[in-house]
Amino acid sequence: MKALDELTFDNRFARLGDAFSTSVLPDPIDNPRLVVASDGAMALLDLEPTEAHSPVFAQLFSGHKLWAEAQPRAMVYSGHQFGGYSPRLGDGRGLLLGEVYNDAGEHWDLHLKGAGLTPYSRMGDGRAVLRSSIREFLASEALHALGIPTSRALCVIGSDTPVWRETQERAAMVLRLAPSHIRFGHFEYFYYTKQPEQAKVLGEHVLAMHFPECLEQPEPYLAMFRAIVERNAELIAKWQAYGFCHGVMNTDNMSILGITFDFGPFAFLDDFDANFICNHSDDQGRYSFSNQVPIAHWNLSALAQALTPFINVQALRETLELFLPLYEAHYLDLMRRRLGLAQGEDSDKALIEDLLRLMQNSSVDYNLFLRRLGDQPAAQAVATLRDDFIDRDGFDHWSARYLQRLAVQGDDPERTARMHAVNPLYLLRNYLAQNAIDAAQQGDYEEVRRLHNVLTRPFDEQPGMQAYAQRPPEWGKHLEISCSS
Ligand code: AMP
Ligand code: MG
Repeated sequence: MKALDELTFDNRFARLGDAFSTSVLPDPIDNPRLVVASDGAMALLDLEPTEAHSPVFAQLFSGHKLWAEAQPRAMVYSGHQFGGYSPRLGDGRGLLLGEVYNDAGEHWDLHLKGAGLTPYSRMGDGRAVLRSSIREFLASEALHALGIPTSRALCVIGSDTPVWRETQERAAMVLRLAPSHIRFGHFEYFYYTKQPEQAKVLGEHVLAMHFPECLEQPEPYLAMFRAIVERNAELIAKWQAYGFCHGVMNTDNMSILGITFDFGPFAFLDDFDANFICNHSDDQGRYSFSNQVPIAHWNLSALAQALTPFINVQALRETLELFLPLYEAHYLDLMRRRLGLAQGEDSDKALIEDLLRLMQNSSVDYNLFLRRLGDQPAAQAVATLRDDFIDRDGFDHWSARYLQRLAVQGDDPERTARMHAVNPLYLLRNYLAQNAIDAAQQGDYEEVRRLHNVLTRPFDEQPGMQAYAQRPPEWGKHLEISCSS
């Protein structure tokens, strides 16, 4: 375990030079204080959890202090936003402070979001508000605990610095950790600005740092693209299986590592709704819940376009075609486990789709239903859950198929334990995040910390925490999460 001043830096991305990022110092926020820190994320840097409470911690992650070896840089990228190409984006309010390697030899990017103006800030103020910083922190740590690949969050630091959104709010900073902050949009930037040499430097960097196993393949770039397709297929399968809606799947928010990245107006489904749109600026529903699958495929094809200088087009097309079957295999596998089905059968897809349709028509809480299905032996569980459905006949018909399917499997004394290990009791519901944010905006951080704690063990029933395992109240179902964060 280390103290804060013992971190070891090795700033590999910064060394790529000024074509890739610009040196910018963080602009400090006033009266910084710790809102919340993640012990799990601290451990990734070998940091003692108690370090979060040292005064220097809040200073380091609010722009007041820097390690001598840090080299804060704003990265340049571009990307397709809502289907249209934006030629120049970049870190408008975030800085890559440096890369730290831990005792296990893993590298972690330290990225400070809300750190002030950069050359890429465009019309923005370079700041992040407390509300969105808490949402990013909670979401990163909650997704990780569910087993969904994601960037991590070390801490949120609050301040007195005023910022204007729809109303006046307070600035905060969130320290994000990821093995890389390289997005699809990085490759698009060098492709569309016709900088083939720089594109190659980026490609070689990504291969060497993040896909070294691909260097042994006859066509390293193709192997890397395939790995990116595979990782994204698995990621999106997990989002769909757990009801996670990202909200802004622009190619600049897609990580080359296939991790959940850049949290904005995201939401977990409460009632199952395939057409759910969590981003209320998304008028067309481009990023609706069910569209996440074809959109991920579309985003991968945008990346493929940017990789055409390195890979034969036919090979790219064939690799892209792997996405949907890979996605479906992962999705079905996870959904089977969530339903407690041991082996796969051809009819599983229809069994799952029919259940989702019934849930949709009766506004059934998606994740709670699956949790409760594992609470009791299957016949009793479906008899209890039946009351949640308006179409009782439809549900009875589905239950009969489900029970028959389980009968083939035989008795399963471990059923509850196996199902509960994949079906969370606690979820980051929007209204829970909102309650924590409301308290934090009044200066009370206890609720953020409590919620974070509960969400780090989403599958384990925790005494006294029943309030976090309920359906949302009516007011909490229709929260409009602002995109201006
Ligand atoms: P996002 O929609 O948050 O993924 O952001 C899209 C682009 O806008 C990125 O280049 C961000 O860095 C930039 N950006 C978002 N919010 C701000 C802000 N408040 N100030 C400056 N740039 C921002
Ligand atoms: Mg973004």
